[in-house]
Order: sequence, then structure tokens, then C-alpha cells
Amino acid sequence: MKILLKGALTLNAEGSSFVRANVAVENGKIALVGDGAGFEADEVISLDNCLLMPAFVNAHTHLPMTLFRGAADDMPLLTWLETRIWPMEDKLSAKDALIAARLACAEMIRSGVSAFNDMYFFTDTFIEAVCESGLRGALCRAITSGDGDFRVDEAIALYDRWHGAENGRIAISFGPHAEYTCSKETLLRTRDEANKRDALLHIHCSESQEEHAQCIERHAKTPVAWFEELGLLSERTLLAHCVQVTDDDIALIAARGANVLHNPQSNLKLGSGIAPVPKMLKAGVNVALGTDGAASNNNLDMFEEMRLAATLHKGFMRDPVAVPADTALKMASANGAKALRMGCKAIAESEAADLVAISLEHPHMNPVNDALKNVVYSAGMGDVAMNMTDGKVLYYKGEYKTLDIEKIKFEANEIAKRVCV
Ligand SMILES: [Zn+2]
Repeated sequence: MKILLKGALTLNAEGSSFVRANVAVENGKIALVGDGAGFEADEVISLDNCLLMPAFVNAHTHLPMTLFRGAADDMPLLTWLETRIWPMEDKLSAKDALIAARLACAEMIRSGVSAFNDMYFFTDTFIEAVCESGLRGALCRAITSGDGDFRVDEAIALYDRWHGAENGRIAISFGPHAEYTCSKETLLRTRDEANKRDALLHIHCSESQEEHAQCIERHAKTPVAWFEELGLLSERTLLAHCVQVTDDDIALIAARGANVLHNPQSNLKLGSGIAPVPKMLKAGVNVALGTDGAASNNNLDMFEEMRLAATLHKGFMRDPVAVPADTALKMASANGAKALRMGCKAIAESEAADLVAISLEHPHMNPVNDALKNVVYSAGMGDVAMNMTDGKVLYYKGEYKTLDIEKIKFEANEIAKRVCV
């Protein structure tokens, strides 16, 4: 299928400004950027009065938690987990997780996301939702120590069954949940299994002060230093949160080329704090953005996350250039693609055709003095006109092409009546 995306203001390859350019797409990749002359398209999609840019990458989320939206709020992390989330999760069936994941996929498609990074359970079942949706995803089965190491075996089985499926849209990673839920032995075995397969390793790290302090008590080391001692840090490592990290931690993360997944909204809502992102960026760390699960956000809207990343650190540091707009946009897209090793890093030939068109139709997007600033500081998920993932249109002007949104919403509400009480 050859598609020409025509008439948009398109983000340049450097990600610094929007210029008038058509984009030709073939076999899931960007074939050329320019006027498109000579490209014999099977379909031309008109994107007049739109901006075209790499789709967002939601670098840390838990898809089925959409079910818990609004059902557990205004509590500290550990109380939130122990009194609300874990009891609700106990009631969840694999089928429930599948429907909740469909809802998450619909929400991400609507908000311009093409690729995401998930950690949860029932992955082997709800991954069907990702296949149906047309999205790209890195997924892992959360590994905790509990009754032995059988979770690692489950993760291996998941990898063997799904890694590389859907024409490479599905990647399976290894997800030891966190320092406080995994023994040393579990972490070491997970590391070895991930290394053997050259797979991503996704772990929660220094999210709350309590967790960070307990780790120091247990190991006389911060979580980052503990992971370093166990040989867990590499360019394939995805560290979610890193709110409490020290300067030494940041230096270690940078030296190993590990990636930080920043979730500003979730960290604020759970009262966990503010990650020292400007310091990480200065140290050269690849920082990507995620929404976290919908129970702690309470949506999967990357526009909100991006705007928060761009403004939060300015206010906190009393520095209006702490995270500039173009940096925030890269954190929401290219940096995530780099961390997950999937998706579109720039609008350039042979990059993945994971693209989002943003409408300039509404008052809040005008005038267009600087389109990039409008995207970061003015736009919202309601402005998404098109979501293309892997060269396929998943959403265009109000219409979902792969999912039955009314059915999904109805079923999710029915399940919530049973589970979220
Ligand atoms: Zn998380």
C-alpha cells in the first residue's frame, strides 16, 4: 500500500520546526519527504490545515489499569497499592484485562500514540488487543519473587510466543517489577535471560522516597547503585520514574547508557515528587515520557504529559529554560522510540511510518506563529486528526479504523461495576 500524506506542515528531520512538505509512505516506512512528485500513490490523504509529526511514544504504562480510572485516588503509593489497586487486581480476569487493554489502545490511538511500553500481568491474553488495534508495543509480564522464580519462566514463554509478532510490531521485554518486589536471585536470572535474547529490561526505580530509603536499608545502596552492582544497567535498560535518584545515580545511568522513563503526572498525583530531569538531560541521559497507568494519571494523554514535562521543571527549578519545548517534544516521541528501539525517531526516509496529524482548526491552535510551540503548549488530544502506525491509518477525523469503540466502552463499564467496588 502506497499512501501520500499531502498538504501538512511537517516537522523537519531535526525536530526543530515545521515546514510545508508531503510525506510518501510505503510498506510501513517513510519513502520520501518533499513534494511527492513521481510517487504513484494508491491513496492520497489530505492533511490541509494540519501539522504532521512523529507519533508519540508512551514509554511507561500499564494498559489494563484503564479499568481503575477514578477508582483509587488521593492516597500515598503504598496505601494506594495495598488498599485499592491490589484488591481490585485480585478480582480481575484475563478477559477483563483484554477489554481494559482495548480501551487503553483506543485512548492511545485517539491521543496520537503509535508505540508504548507496558508492564502488567495477563499479558499473554490482552496482547490480542494490541494486535487488533494496529499499535506497536513493547510488553512484559511483571516479574516478582514471591513463591519462587516461575514468573521468569512465564516471561520466557511470553517472549517465545510473541516477540517479533505482527510484522515486528510486538516486542517482548523482561520486566522485574522493582527492587522491593524482586530478590537478588530473581534480578540476576532475569538479567541473564534478557541478555541472552538481547531483550529490553523494564523496571520501576526510585519512584517514592519510602522505596528508595528501604533499599538503602536493605542493601546500603540506592536502587540505581544496587542495579549497577547486579549488572542490570545497559542501553537496553528502561528505568521507570527515577524520582529520588542522586547525582551519583544519574552519573551511573548516563555512563551505562540506560534510559529513564519520566512520568511527571503520576509522580505528582501519588505525591512521589519531581524527578531531577534537567540534571539527567544535562548528563546526557535519554529521557522518555510515559503516562504510567490510568489509575495514577488518570488518562493516557501524551499531550498533557509533554506539557507538564515542559512546564513543571521550569517552575520547580525557577528556570524558564529548564526543559525547552523542542526537548519536551523529543522526550514524548523520538527519545521513546530510541529507548524502545521501535517507532519513528524523525520524519525522514526509511523511518517507521508512525505519524500523527494535529489539526489547526480550533481557536486555541491559532495564530500559528510557531507551530512547534502550539503543539507543546496549546494542543490537546482532541486536536488529533489522524493516527498512522506502521503505515496504516488507525484513526482519521473522528473514526477508529480498527476498534469498535462503542462496544469497548460499554464492556469496560460493565466490568468496572464488578471489579472496582
Ligand atoms: Zn508504573
